[in-house]
Amino acid sequence: MEDRGFDLENRLATLEENELKRTLSPVDRVAERGYFAQPCGSELPVLDSEEALVFASNNYLGLTDDQRVQNAARRAAATVGTGSGASRLVTGDTMVHRDVERLLAETKGAERALTFSSGYAANVGTITALEPDVIFSDELNHASLVDGCRLADCETVTYDHCDPDSLRAEMAARAQRAEASTDSRSGSKATPDGETESWLIVTDSVFSMDGTVAPLSEICDLAEEFGAWVMVDEAHATGLYVDGGGVVQAEGLEDRIHVQMGTLSKALASQGGYVAGSDDLIACLVNEARSFGFSTGLAPPAAAAASEALHLARHSDARERLWENVTHLRDGLETMGWDVPGESQILPIVVGDRRDALALEAALRDRNVVAPAIRPPTVPDGECRLRIAPMATHDQADVVACLEAIRAASEEVGLL
Ligand code: PMP
Repeated sequence: MEDRGFDLENRLATLEENELKRTLSPVDRVAERGYFAQPCGSELPVLDSEEALVFASNNYLGLTDDQRVQNAARRAAATVGTGSGASRLVTGDTMVHRDVERLLAETKGAERALTFSSGYAANVGTITALEPDVIFSDELNHASLVDGCRLADCETVTYDHCDPDSLRAEMAARAQRAEASTDSRSGSKATPDGETESWLIVTDSVFSMDGTVAPLSEICDLAEEFGAWVMVDEAHATGLYVDGGGVVQAEGLEDRIHVQMGTLSKALASQGGYVAGSDDLIACLVNEARSFGFSTGLAPPAAAAASEALHLARHSDARERLWENVTHLRDGLETMGWDVPGESQILPIVVGDRRDALALEAALRDRNVVAPAIRPPTVPDGECRLRIAPMATHDQADVVACLEAIRAASEEVGLL
């Protein structure tokens, strides 16, 4: 079996040879600036639910409201500044960036992590920097992964949503085509310049509009069979599974997944994106991810807030409370007669028609529950839905109120 992975060592060596390799300065140099975010610990405050109950936020652990997270952002603003002032490669690198990256790497079981100014920038920058020859992409992947594939300007093959058989069929067909074209050139390699093609499989772990969870272990089996790399977007999973990790950690797949990406903007209550992986991967991204090098470093308060939130995701009972709410809501919706797909914290109520979705949204809003209708282009036409997402800071009474509102609204609109 030919190795279809990426020879980053060689690429980094070439950069070095040509005096083009850049590195972030050693941690002690950054530490001289004297700021280190310290996680602290007491109880999470309960969400104030007087006005309307929001049941559609990505603030899954409710930590944007948490005093400790807010204080971490305030401290960083007061000591490091409100902005980075430049790219991390110029003067924008601070200890708060290093702190959150260290914690992310530890949580994700990776050698290193690197933050970007958004999850979107992390996806686009990473896929283009890898320069794959062929990408295999789940048909329902997030737009930022899709845009990364487009910008990478290579062959992108989509496979059926969360379907390893479809992925296997596409990879086998592609391998056969590569072999056939190799034979016709009577060489043993597949790219025009005689190199073995590099293949990348990209998938969300938790799909944001469907609540489905990718079959990561089967995807890793296929990647290993065909010699490809795997990149997983854990935007909707980071912070929610074992020890504050994502699905990759829940399934113990750290060593089989080459690129673990996620955002700081959802459960981690802040703004920004990250990639965790090997030393070589991060060194490659520092040098070649254009959305990293040519963009101002993450704002220090955002980095510090994410550090504190990640600490709380790992060490408080917020995750437990979220999953209790998820079970309560899912059971209630199913008892009511809604078929709720997926197995994550995202509970889609698929109504189909966009007018029905808007009517259900309005009827819920009349009952003080906020859950906006999701319509094209976010989901295919005819598959409009409400995306119900509980938070750790909802209490039992909030969940009961949400369920009662959904029952009454669904009946009013004629959907139940
Ligand atoms: N990936 C997924 C799966 C997402 O849902 C999102 C944001 N909705 C992103 C990436 C982009 O993250 P950010 O909002 O931090 O740019």
